Amino acid sequence: MSKRLPTSTAGSLPKPSWLAEPETLWSPWKLEDEALIEGKQDALRVSLQEQQQAGIDIVSDGEQTRQHFVTTFIEHLSGVDFEKRKTVRIRNRYDASVPTVVDAVNRHKPVFVEDAKFLRRQTDKPIKWALPGPMTMIDTLYDDHYKSREKLAWEFAKALNQEAKELEAAGVDIIQFDEPAFNVFFDEVNDWGIAALERAIEGLKCETAVHICYGYGIKANTDWKKTLGSEWRQYEEVFPRLQKSNIDIVSLECQNSHVPIELVELLRGKKVMLGAIDVATNTIETPEEVAATLRKALQFVDADKLYPCTNCGMAPLSRSVARGKLSALSAGTEIVRKEL
Ligand SMILES: [Zn+2]
Repeated sequence: MSKRLPTSTAGSLPKPSWLAEPETLWSPWKLEDEALIEGKQDALRVSLQEQQQAGIDIVSDGEQTRQHFVTTFIEHLSGVDFEKRKTVRIRNRYDASVPTVVDAVNRHKPVFVEDAKFLRRQTDKPIKWALPGPMTMIDTLYDDHYKSREKLAWEFAKALNQEAKELEAAGVDIIQFDEPAFNVFFDEVNDWGIAALERAIEGLKCETAVHICYGYGIKANTDWKKTLGSEWRQYEEVFPRLQKSNIDIVSLECQNSHVPIELVELLRGKKVMLGAIDVATNTIETPEEVAATLRKALQFVDADKLYPCTNCGMAPLSRSVARGKLSALSAGTEIVRKEL
């Protein structure tokens, strides 16, 4: 990345009201068949235009092409029965009805590759594509086949690696794996979670990132955050091992969170996508607030490795709030760029 402090978003952006229910996470599509394909492409164009207009440097599809950050990927695999549902506890936090793994999981066809090619044709800017991470995928399913979280994660890692290689060939510059589960299952992360992630990025030449956050601003998450105390030290459990991993970039939450900023030091040497925008409030940060967060982070990450970002996805926010936050991210970053 030639530009200093390149900005990006963690992932999702709001969908237009003609495609999905506004301000609703995981809303069903309002269109079908051909109209849906066209609708998603149009939404991608609008989302890209809004990112570019706000001055975002590393752009994405705004996740206009998927309904859910985990299940849309899993729907394209064989071995998972979406009719056979079980209620499980997601990340030890809330119950959800999830599909069942009934047979060996395999990826027989690409999932997002055509969407990524479409995005690539629309812009010359660096593009980032998000995929779910293996551990977060297994935590969103009931496993009636492998009966081993580690084994299932390993199989998903292989499928993700196939997809990632095709995304790379389609011209994606950064492939990001979303692993909010890394903030919950520390022993498993260190035992096999990071190894599974490294299996997912095996042989890739493009840059790779892992996004670890405290989730969307939904009630289950905000209730959970209230139980975490005044200092959120979860990152302390996984950063040391991640620092030694092959992953290039770590994306983390920082703005308005109780994460002690000095934990970023544990990643020294890695690139850091630092969340300087809070996605759990409609209040739009001022550029100066963004700049203050970035200045604090610069004590613990070298300037050439700091990538200003949002805490998490902005899908549940209104479009105008999301636009305001994108502009604040750019303007705040510009203040700090001038100080370097
Ligand atoms: Zn997130």
